[in-house]
Amino acid sequence: MPEALKVRSRDPQESLAEPVPASILVVDDEPAVREGCRRVLCRKGYRVETAAGGKEGLAKARQDHFDLILIDIKMPDMDGVELLQAVRNLSPDTVCIIITGYATLELAVRTTKLGAYDFVTKPFTPNELLGVVERGLEVRRLTLEARSLAEERDRRLLEIATEKSRLRTIINCLADGVLVINRERQLVLYNPAILTLLSLKEAPRLGQPFEQYLPNPEMATLLAESLSSPDSQYSRVAREFSLDPEGKTVVMANVAAVRDENGQILGAVLVLRDITQLKELDRMKAQFIAMVAHELRAPLAAIKGYLDLILGDTVRDPAQIRHMLERCNQRGEALLALIQDLLEVSRLEAARTFRRIEQLPLADILQSALELVSPQARTRKVSITCELPAELPLLQADREEMIRLFTNLLSNAIKYNREEGKVWVETKVEEPYVRIDISDTGVGIPREALPKLFREFFRLRTPETKYVTGTGLGLSIVKKIVDAHGGRVEVISELGEGSTFTVYLPLPEQVGKST
Ligand code: ADP
Repeated sequence: MPEALKVRSRDPQESLAEPVPASILVVDDEPAVREGCRRVLCRKGYRVETAAGGKEGLAKARQDHFDLILIDIKMPDMDGVELLQAVRNLSPDTVCIIITGYATLELAVRTTKLGAYDFVTKPFTPNELLGVVERGLEVRRLTLEARSLAEERDRRLLEIATEKSRLRTIINCLADGVLVINRERQLVLYNPAILTLLSLKEAPRLGQPFEQYLPNPEMATLLAESLSSPDSQYSRVAREFSLDPEGKTVVMANVAAVRDENGQILGAVLVLRDITQLKELDRMKAQFIAMVAHELRAPLAAIKGYLDLILGDTVRDPAQIRHMLERCNQRGEALLALIQDLLEVSRLEAARTFRRIEQLPLADILQSALELVSPQARTRKVSITCELPAELPLLQADREEMIRLFTNLLSNAIKYNREEGKVWVETKVEEPYVRIDISDTGVGIPREALPKLFREFFRLRTPETKYVTGTGLGLSIVKKIVDAHGGRVEVISELGEGSTFTVYLPLPEQVGKST
């Protein structure tokens, strides 16, 4: 079958399939014309159907799809003009060719205005028929191809637009600030995060010189310089900047030149990352290490000092030597306690992964903590009262950490108490928490020291507490445990009168919500 006689399917999915023969409907009330057309067209390999009148033709056109319809202009039941209009409404892509006699030639010419592609005048030769049909089908093929190209182009455009808006959404959601400039140093893109980081009150105008939006001249230079950076596909620079004179906000600025495939610079991208918290963490870590080193050195230096005196025979009096060894022993014990607490701090920091949370009766936990501190209370002659209500809630917590938490607070209440002082424990449900108060009649804490109380190594050195041993880590451990369980700890204190430490722990059904 000649290629020109085939019409490719309109479905792009099927475009690789074998072309199907064009389908043609011949509508004419004259059997000889109908048959003649059918024979000529079938011989050429077209799929041909016939109809003896306008109504039958329309019914077939409704049932089936035709690439081309030959329509006789004069038919008794429904004339060709009427059928042409109905077919145009039904299937605008179908090519319609009017079969006409000389008497209706003028009318046939007018049908081209109504959408007929061409007409053929009776009587016609097979070649005349084939000529007009092949031209009609070629036009149809070209129309379909043009449409599919337009559809493809629209689809691509839509894809690009979708991709662009997706990228835009991603850039807008970034926590890092992004700012892009072109080769002419004009602003071409930015995201909301950069407005916040640079504290810009008004949204920058695209196309404006970028320098006016960068408060830090050095940062602006860094970005401008990247536009003339050496020819390297991946040239990028990272530098730290303070965004305010006090250095409260610190950012890491990453600058990279944007190049095309030939290495030509198109512009530059600035990405700002807020590293204030990281810097603070870094500072705290360094401070912590310095503090640990200091706290470890003091007792070791004291021990070494005593031992030097003894070993150097500077002190010979056995009573004095014994006293010094006892001091060494005490400092050694303090050192061990400090290392114990340090291990606890580092364990708590890593405990996120292996904390064992279970349902625990609060009364049992308090009981265990009280038993642990009772020898210390006896030595200090401090009495402890613990009146618990009959109905105490369960805790959802790690047992070891809960015992540690209350032991630390009770131990402090005894240590910083006066001789024959009192400690009392009270509990109360205050939805969504259970509240535990540990009060004492001790030395109290000055108001200005309260905010620093839970920091690592913070110790008050007053005449009353000078001889109390401790590591300064107990309350920081308390806070870490309470925080990890979604609770909080508070303190009120009256100097010389006593203190109350209050722990709030979420009730079991609140644990999921509050942690
Ligand atoms: P440590 O007791 O080992 O020194 P903590 O972190 O437990 O360390 O306590 C920090 C400081 O808070 C203590 O040195 C003490 O000055 C003060 N403090 C803690 N609890 C009490 C309390 N119940 N009464 C008075 N002062 C207290």
